[in-house]
Amino acid sequence: MTNLRCSFFPTALDTHPHTWSGTWPALCRGFANDRMPAPHPADADPKRYLPAICGATFTPGSTRAGANVVSIQLASVDIDNGEETPDPSGRKHPSGRPMLLKRVINSPATIGLICDELLRRRIAGYAWETWSSTREWPRLRLVLPLNAPILPDLWGTCTEWILETTGLNRWRMALDLPVLRDTARLHFLPARRPGAPSVERREIPGDILEPPTSEELVLLEPPKTTLHPWQMNALALHGSTCHPTESGKAGWAKRFRASDGNPLDLRTLDAVRLLESINCRVGPGRPWGSGMKHRTSCPWFEEHSHQTNDDSGVLFKELGRWPAWHCSHSHHSHLGLADLMEAAGVLR
Ligand SMILES: [Zn+2]
Repeated sequence: MTNLRCSFFPTALDTHPHTWSGTWPALCRGFANDRMPAPHPADADPKRYLPAICGATFTPGSTRAGANVVSIQLASVDIDNGEETPDPSGRKHPSGRPMLLKRVINSPATIGLICDELLRRRIAGYAWETWSSTREWPRLRLVLPLNAPILPDLWGTCTEWILETTGLNRWRMALDLPVLRDTARLHFLPARRPGAPSVERREIPGDILEPPTSEELVLLEPPKTTLHPWQMNALALHGSTCHPTESGKAGWAKRFRASDGNPLDLRTLDAVRLLESINCRVGPGRPWGSGMKHRTSCPWFEEHSHQTNDDSGVLFKELGRWPAWHCSHSHHSHLGLADLMEAAGVLR
């Protein structure tokens, strides 16, 4: 039987992982009870005092941080059924990006729909309604065990393999993808608000997912993120996708000038310096295809849910091509190099 490894936290305030190892049935027994928040001050958010699980194992003695993740063996899918759309009143952030409002999507995914799909595919999982779920706006968590641990660098690609294999791609718009991709993310165990009915939960019998090997995962093509119609419009307007091109001075790049007034050749643009000039963190480069890839922060992180200032940005550099940048937060998928250059101002 598969031996699973993951981490538990007594509350969200505790950053020291308690490593757990055991079987899937043993883990499921732990999901079967409704938890209660630990004693907390009257004015505190009770949710922060709930026990939580993380699908990752961390370097011994370290704290819960992405950099300390050794491997991941549980996928926690956050089905929050929310979407962010520009405020109809047209309010804008100081950056000029539209202010976003979160609302429930049309035809939200339900625990029945998700579990029936897994059952049909004979895939083991455990689903429950989360603390903030309501009848009008159902919010679910689905835990999927893997029969082998995944290295953090391959986790993003592995999540796409999981969504494809489980059929969850059908509800892609209902999923919080950055949460799924965040290796060090905490997920609260099933918990009931005082006075609320018992948490709805389902254990789905089936086989434990068998992920591709590391060698196979590196060869998988990461799929395109689905864009909202308004993001498609923004893309058409700004042309902010970064095409490899024969000429470094083509298209939208003509709008940008170097400090000497001459057109910029984007093939030689120092994108790391560009990002740093707008106070972005740029991580060390790692080989990617024939070029390099860097994790970066996002200059517009204040627009992320919970203002998360994470390493959601990815910069790709390849010799002789324009650099490419994107933010993995779903409502930033329309932003690219052109937006960074606009934000930097000095290059205009
Ligand atoms: Zn962003």
